[in-house]
Amino acid sequence: LPGRNVLIVYAHQEPKSLNGSLKNVAVEELSKQGCSVTVSDLYAMQFEPRATRNDIVGCLHNLEEFDYGVEVREAYKRGDLSSDLIEEQKKVQEADLLIFQFPLYWFSMPAIMKGWMDRVLVEGFAHQFPDCYSSGFLKNKLALFSFTTGGSQEMYTKGGISGDIRYLLWPMQHGIMHYCGVKVLAPHICFAPESVSEEERKEMLLAWGQRLKTLWKEKPIDCSPEWYFK
Ligand code: FAD
Ligand code: ZN
Repeated sequence: LPGRNVLIVYAHQEPKSLNGSLKNVAVEELSKQGCSVTVSDLYAMQFEPRATRNDIVGCLHNLEEFDYGVEVREAYKRGDLSSDLIEEQKKVQEADLLIFQFPLYWFSMPAIMKGWMDRVLVEGFAHQFPDCYSSGFLKNKLALFSFTTGGSQEMYTKGGISGDIRYLLWPMQHGIMHYCGVKVLAPHICFAPESVSEEERKEMLLAWGQRLKTLWKEKPIDCSPEWYFK
Protein backbone atom coordinates (compact mmCIF):
# COMPACT_ATOMS: atom_id res chain seq x y z
CA LEU A 1 0.00 0.00 0.00
CA PRO A 2 1.37 3.41 -0.92
CA GLY A 3 1.96 6.01 1.75
CA ARG A 4 3.23 3.60 4.37
CA ASN A 5 6.13 4.73 6.53
CA VAL A 6 9.05 2.42 7.09
CA LEU A 7 11.96 2.93 9.48
CA ILE A 8 15.04 0.80 8.81
CA VAL A 9 17.34 0.60 11.80
CA TYR A 10 20.59 -0.53 10.26
CA ALA A 11 23.77 -1.64 12.03
CA HIS A 12 26.78 -2.38 9.84
CA GLN A 13 30.07 -0.51 9.62
CA GLU A 14 30.65 -1.22 5.90
CA PRO A 15 28.30 0.01 3.17
CA LYS A 16 29.67 -2.69 0.82
CA SER A 17 28.72 -5.49 3.22
CA LEU A 18 25.89 -7.88 2.56
CA ASN A 19 23.95 -6.11 5.31
CA GLY A 20 24.54 -2.86 3.45
CA SER A 21 23.24 -4.45 0.25
CA LEU A 22 20.20 -5.90 2.04
CA LYS A 23 19.43 -2.46 3.43
CA ASN A 24 19.75 -0.93 -0.06
CA VAL A 25 17.42 -3.54 -1.54
CA ALA A 26 14.78 -2.66 1.10
CA VAL A 27 15.12 1.09 0.52
CA GLU A 28 14.80 0.59 -3.24
CA GLU A 29 11.89 -1.85 -3.24
CA LEU A 30 9.83 -0.08 -0.56
CA SER A 31 10.38 3.33 -2.16
CA LYS A 32 9.28 1.87 -5.48
CA GLN A 33 6.05 0.81 -3.77
CA GLY A 34 5.44 4.41 -2.70
CA CYS A 35 6.47 3.93 0.92
CA SER A 36 8.31 6.66 2.71
CA VAL A 37 11.55 5.09 3.94
CA THR A 38 13.79 6.45 6.68
CA VAL A 39 17.11 4.83 7.59
CA SER A 40 18.81 5.13 10.95
CA ASP A 41 22.37 4.14 9.99
CA LEU A 42 23.61 3.66 13.54
CA TYR A 43 27.38 3.47 12.92
CA ALA A 44 27.32 6.39 10.48
CA MET A 45 25.35 8.40 13.05
CA GLN A 46 27.84 7.32 15.71
CA PHE A 47 24.78 6.44 17.73
CA GLU A 48 25.46 6.42 21.47
CA PRO A 49 24.64 2.94 22.81
CA ARG A 50 25.23 3.67 26.49
CA ALA A 51 22.33 4.43 28.81
CA THR A 52 23.74 7.24 30.95
CA ARG A 53 22.90 10.43 32.75
CA ASN A 54 23.60 12.30 29.50
CA ASP A 55 20.23 11.09 28.18
CA ILE A 56 18.51 13.54 30.53
CA VAL A 57 18.74 17.24 29.77
CA GLY A 58 18.75 19.56 32.76
CA CYS A 59 17.85 18.67 36.31
CA LEU A 60 17.47 15.15 37.63
CA HIS A 61 14.32 13.90 39.34
CA ASN A 62 16.35 12.38 42.18
CA LEU A 63 19.67 14.08 42.90
CA GLU A 64 20.59 11.68 45.68
CA GLU A 65 20.65 8.41 43.80
CA PHE A 66 20.62 7.85 40.04
CA ASP A 67 18.03 5.43 38.64
CA TYR A 68 18.23 5.42 34.81
CA GLY A 69 14.74 3.99 34.26
CA VAL A 70 13.06 6.50 36.54
CA GLU A 71 15.05 9.44 35.22
CA VAL A 72 14.31 8.81 31.53
CA ARG A 73 10.64 8.17 32.28
CA GLU A 74 10.40 11.53 34.06
CA ALA A 75 12.51 13.28 31.41
CA TYR A 76 10.26 11.88 28.67
CA LYS A 77 7.22 13.39 30.43
CA ARG A 78 8.94 16.76 30.73
CA GLY A 79 10.22 16.65 27.14
CA ASP A 80 13.75 16.63 28.54
CA LEU A 81 15.31 13.63 26.81
CA SER A 82 18.46 14.28 24.80
CA SER A 83 17.77 15.35 21.22
CA ASP A 84 19.11 12.14 19.60
CA LEU A 85 16.50 10.15 21.52
CA ILE A 86 13.66 12.52 20.72
CA GLU A 87 14.60 12.24 17.06
CA GLU A 88 14.57 8.43 17.06
CA GLN A 89 11.28 8.35 18.96
CA LYS A 90 9.75 10.63 16.34
CA LYS A 91 10.87 8.24 13.59
CA VAL A 92 9.39 5.29 15.49
CA GLN A 93 6.14 7.15 16.10
CA GLU A 94 5.74 7.90 12.40
CA ALA A 95 6.62 4.39 11.26
CA ASP A 96 4.13 1.67 10.37
CA LEU A 97 6.93 -0.86 10.01
CA LEU A 98 10.32 -1.13 11.72
CA ILE A 99 12.96 -3.20 9.93
CA PHE A 100 16.07 -4.13 11.93
CA GLN A 101 18.96 -5.01 9.62
CA PHE A 102 22.11 -6.40 11.25
CA PRO A 103 24.72 -9.17 11.43
CA LEU A 104 24.19 -11.60 14.30
CA TYR A 105 26.64 -10.85 17.12
CA TRP A 106 26.87 -13.44 19.89
CA PHE A 107 23.37 -14.81 19.30
CA SER A 108 21.96 -11.29 19.41
CA MET A 109 22.06 -7.86 17.79
CA PRO A 110 25.24 -5.74 17.75
CA ALA A 111 25.72 -3.60 20.88
CA ILE A 112 24.99 -0.39 18.98
CA MET A 113 21.52 -1.70 18.09
CA LYS A 114 20.90 -3.04 21.59
CA GLY A 115 21.79 0.46 22.77
CA TRP A 116 19.14 1.84 20.41
CA MET A 117 16.57 -0.45 22.05
CA ASP A 118 17.78 0.42 25.56
CA ARG A 119 17.66 4.17 24.99
CA VAL A 120 14.82 4.79 22.53
CA LEU A 121 12.07 2.55 23.89
CA VAL A 122 11.61 4.62 27.04
CA GLU A 123 8.89 3.89 29.59
CA GLY A 124 5.98 6.23 28.94
CA PHE A 125 6.81 6.30 25.21
CA ALA A 126 6.84 2.61 24.26
CA HIS A 127 5.27 0.93 27.29
CA GLN A 128 4.22 1.55 30.87
CA PHE A 129 3.33 -1.43 32.98
CA PRO A 130 0.66 -2.83 32.83
CA ASP A 131 0.51 -1.40 29.30
CA CYS A 132 2.76 -3.97 27.72
CA TYR A 133 2.46 -6.79 25.17
CA SER A 134 -0.97 -6.44 23.52
CA SER A 135 -1.49 -3.03 25.15
CA GLY A 136 2.05 -1.69 24.65
CA PHE A 137 2.05 1.86 23.31
CA LEU A 138 3.54 0.87 19.93
CA LYS A 139 0.60 -1.32 18.96
CA ASN A 140 -0.52 -1.02 15.32
CA LYS A 141 3.11 -1.11 14.27
CA LEU A 142 4.99 -4.00 12.70
CA ALA A 143 8.57 -5.12 13.18
CA LEU A 144 10.79 -7.36 11.09
CA PHE A 145 14.21 -8.66 12.10
CA SER A 146 16.40 -9.12 9.02
CA PHE A 147 19.86 -10.45 9.77
CA THR A 148 22.84 -12.42 8.58
CA THR A 149 24.79 -15.12 10.39
CA GLY A 150 28.22 -16.69 10.34
CA GLY A 151 26.81 -20.11 11.14
CA SER A 152 24.96 -22.30 8.67
CA GLN A 153 21.25 -23.10 8.66
CA GLU A 154 21.96 -26.70 9.80
CA MET A 155 23.77 -25.42 12.90
CA TYR A 156 20.69 -23.36 13.80
CA THR A 157 18.22 -26.24 14.02
CA LYS A 158 16.73 -27.90 17.08
CA GLY A 159 19.14 -30.80 16.89
CA GLY A 160 22.05 -28.66 15.64
CA ILE A 161 24.94 -27.45 17.81
CA SER A 162 23.63 -23.88 17.99
CA GLY A 163 19.99 -24.78 18.59
CA ASP A 164 16.90 -23.49 16.78
CA ILE A 165 17.37 -19.95 15.46
CA ARG A 166 13.99 -19.17 17.04
CA TYR A 167 15.50 -19.49 20.53
CA LEU A 168 17.55 -16.37 19.96
CA LEU A 169 14.64 -14.47 18.48
CA TRP A 170 12.75 -14.74 21.78
CA PRO A 171 14.47 -11.80 23.55
CA MET A 172 14.48 -9.59 20.45
CA GLN A 173 11.02 -10.26 19.03
CA HIS A 174 9.06 -11.12 22.16
CA GLY A 175 11.04 -9.49 24.98
CA ILE A 176 11.46 -6.15 23.21
CA MET A 177 9.09 -5.64 20.25
CA HIS A 178 6.06 -7.58 21.46
CA TYR A 179 6.55 -6.13 24.95
CA CYS A 180 6.08 -2.67 23.40
CA GLY A 181 2.94 -3.82 21.58
CA VAL A 182 4.57 -4.19 18.17
CA LYS A 183 3.40 -7.07 15.99
CA VAL A 184 6.17 -9.17 14.59
CA LEU A 185 6.52 -10.39 10.99
CA ALA A 186 8.50 -13.55 10.28
CA PRO A 187 12.24 -12.88 10.47
CA HIS A 188 14.36 -12.75 7.33
CA ILE A 189 17.60 -14.65 7.76
CA CYS A 190 20.55 -14.92 5.37
CA PHE A 191 22.62 -17.80 6.67
CA ALA A 192 26.40 -17.71 6.29
CA PRO A 193 26.75 -15.22 3.40
CA GLU A 194 30.54 -15.33 3.77
CA SER A 195 30.62 -19.08 3.08
CA VAL A 196 28.54 -19.13 -0.10
CA SER A 197 29.22 -18.15 -3.69
CA GLU A 198 28.75 -14.70 -5.18
CA GLU A 199 25.85 -16.22 -7.14
CA GLU A 200 24.12 -17.44 -3.97
CA ARG A 201 24.56 -14.05 -2.35
CA LYS A 202 22.92 -12.41 -5.36
CA GLU A 203 20.05 -14.86 -4.91
CA MET A 204 19.76 -13.90 -1.23
CA LEU A 205 19.37 -10.25 -2.23
CA LEU A 206 16.80 -11.11 -4.89
CA ALA A 207 14.81 -13.22 -2.41
CA TRP A 208 14.68 -10.34 0.07
CA GLY A 209 13.45 -7.93 -2.62
CA GLN A 210 10.91 -10.52 -3.70
CA ARG A 211 9.58 -10.97 -0.20
CA LEU A 212 9.21 -7.22 0.25
CA LYS A 213 6.95 -7.04 -2.82
CA THR A 214 4.16 -8.82 -0.91
CA LEU A 215 5.17 -7.85 2.61
CA TRP A 216 2.03 -5.85 3.36
CA LYS A 217 -0.09 -8.95 2.77
CA GLU A 218 1.79 -10.93 5.43
CA LYS A 219 0.20 -11.79 8.75
CA PRO A 220 2.28 -11.34 11.92
CA ILE A 221 3.60 -14.48 13.60
CA ASP A 222 1.86 -15.81 16.68
CA CYS A 223 4.47 -14.35 19.01
CA SER A 224 3.89 -16.65 21.98
CA PRO A 225 6.25 -19.08 23.77
CA GLU A 226 5.00 -21.92 21.54
CA TRP A 227 6.30 -20.26 18.37
CA TYR A 228 9.79 -20.16 19.85
CA PHE A 229 10.12 -23.25 21.99
CA LYS A 230 7.57 -25.88 20.95
P1 FAD B 1 29.93 -9.59 4.54
O1 FAD B 1 31.28 -10.11 4.89
O2 FAD B 1 29.80 -8.15 4.27
O3 FAD B 1 29.28 -10.32 3.30
C1 FAD B 1 29.84 -11.45 2.69
C2 FAD B 1 30.18 -11.07 1.29
O4 FAD B 1 29.05 -10.54 0.61
C3 FAD B 1 31.27 -10.01 1.18
O5 FAD B 1 32.33 -10.54 0.43
C4 FAD B 1 30.59 -8.89 0.43
O6 FAD B 1 31.45 -8.24 -0.44
C5 FAD B 1 29.52 -9.61 -0.33
N1 FAD B 1 28.46 -8.77 -0.89
C6 FAD B 1 28.03 -7.57 -0.43
N2 FAD B 1 27.11 -7.06 -1.25
C7 FAD B 1 26.95 -7.95 -2.24
C8 FAD B 1 26.12 -7.98 -3.40
N3 FAD B 1 25.31 -6.95 -3.71
N4 FAD B 1 26.18 -9.07 -4.20
C9 FAD B 1 27.01 -10.09 -3.91
N5 FAD B 1 27.82 -10.10 -2.84
C10 FAD B 1 27.79 -9.05 -2.00
N6 FAD B 1 27.72 -15.48 13.64
C11 FAD B 1 26.85 -16.38 14.18
O7 FAD B 1 26.30 -17.21 13.46
N7 FAD B 1 26.56 -16.39 15.52
C12 FAD B 1 27.12 -15.50 16.37
O8 FAD B 1 26.83 -15.53 17.56
C13 FAD B 1 28.03 -14.54 15.84
N8 FAD B 1 28.62 -13.63 16.65
C14 FAD B 1 29.49 -12.72 16.12
C15 FAD B 1 30.05 -11.75 16.97
C16 FAD B 1 30.92 -10.81 16.46
C17 FAD B 1 31.51 -9.79 17.38
C18 FAD B 1 31.23 -10.80 15.07
C19 FAD B 1 32.16 -9.78 14.51
C20 FAD B 1 30.64 -11.73 14.23
C21 FAD B 1 29.77 -12.70 14.73
N9 FAD B 1 29.17 -13.65 13.91
C22 FAD B 1 28.31 -14.57 14.44
C23 FAD B 1 29.40 -13.65 12.43
C24 FAD B 1 28.55 -12.59 11.75
O9 FAD B 1 27.19 -12.75 12.06
C25 FAD B 1 28.77 -12.63 10.22
O10 FAD B 1 30.11 -12.35 9.99
C26 FAD B 1 27.88 -11.63 9.51
O11 FAD B 1 26.53 -11.94 9.74
C27 FAD B 1 28.13 -11.60 8.01
O12 FAD B 1 27.40 -10.53 7.46
P2 FAD B 1 28.14 -9.28 6.75
O13 FAD B 1 27.12 -8.37 6.18
O14 FAD B 1 29.12 -8.68 7.69
O15 FAD B 1 28.90 -10.10 5.64
ZN1 ZN C 1 5.61 -12.41 21.75
